[in-house]
Amino acid sequence: MFRLIAGPCTVESREQTLTTARAVAAGGAVMLRGGAWKPRTSPHSFQGLGHAGLRILAEARAETGLPIVTELTDVREIDAVLEVADVIQVGARNMSNSALLTEIGRSGRPALLKRGAAATIDDLLAAADYILAEGNEDVTLCERGIRTFETSTRFTLDVAAVPVLKERTRLPVIVDPSHAAGRRELVRPLALAAVAAGADGLIVEVHPNPAEALCDGPQALTTAEFAAFADDVYALAAAVAPAPSLAAAA
Ligand code: PEP
Ligand code: MN
Repeated sequence: MFRLIAGPCTVESREQTLTTARAVAAGGAVMLRGGAWKPRTSPHSFQGLGHAGLRILAEARAETGLPIVTELTDVREIDAVLEVADVIQVGARNMSNSALLTEIGRSGRPALLKRGAAATIDDLLAAADYILAEGNEDVTLCERGIRTFETSTRFTLDVAAVPVLKERTRLPVIVDPSHAAGRRELVRPLALAAVAAGADGLIVEVHPNPAEALCDGPQALTTAEFAAFADDVYALAAAVAPAPSLAAAA
C-alpha cells in the first residue's frame, strides 16, 4: 500500500507539532515525521528539542494514532528514540555511519534509510546491508536528492533511483521531495514524478506557519494545503499500475 508520511521537519513546540499532526492525519497521512535532534549544517542553527521533542512526538501519536518516524543522530540516544519511534530514520548525513546502522539493525526496529547527498545507489544499498546483516529486514530506502552542479533546486531529485532500486532490491523505496526541492512550489511536481516512477511512498515536510519555522520553512507545505496535496498523490498512486518489482519477478 502506498505510504504518505508527513509532518514537521523539526519538533519545535507542542502546539506546532500537534497542530501539524492533526492536519496530516485528517489529510490522510499514515505516519507522522518529526525530528527531535537535527543534524544542522551550522552549530549555531536550532538543533532540536532532544528528549523533550520525543515526548511531544509520543503525545502526537497518542492523540492521532499515527505511528512516528524520527531521526536517530547519535547512537548514545538509541534507547530514548526506541521508546518513541515506530520507525527510526537515518538521515542523509549519517547514511554511512556504520556504528549507527549496526545498532539500528540490532534493535530490530523498522528503519528509514535516507540516501546521502553524495552517495551512489551502490553506497545506499551497502549502507542498508549493515542493518540487514543484523537480521533486521524492515528497511525502507529513501531518495531525497543528490548534490549536482545544478543550483536551482536544493538538491537534484534522482527520480531514476526509484526504478533502479526496484530492480536491485526488494526493499520498499520512498521519496522525499521536500529536501530535494528546497522550496514549496516544487514539492508537488517532484512528489508526483516520484509516484509516477513507482515510489512506494513519500515523506514530506508540513508546517502550520512555514515563515516562522526554525528549520526548512521554505520547503514545508502548509497544513492548509496538505489535504489537497494528499488527494492528488493518492489519486496518482491509484492510477499508476502497481509495478511489480523486477527483482521479485526474477
Ligand atoms: C530531514 O528529514 O529533516 C532531514 C534532515 O533530511 P536529510 O537527512 O535527507 O537531509
Ligand atoms: Mn528537514
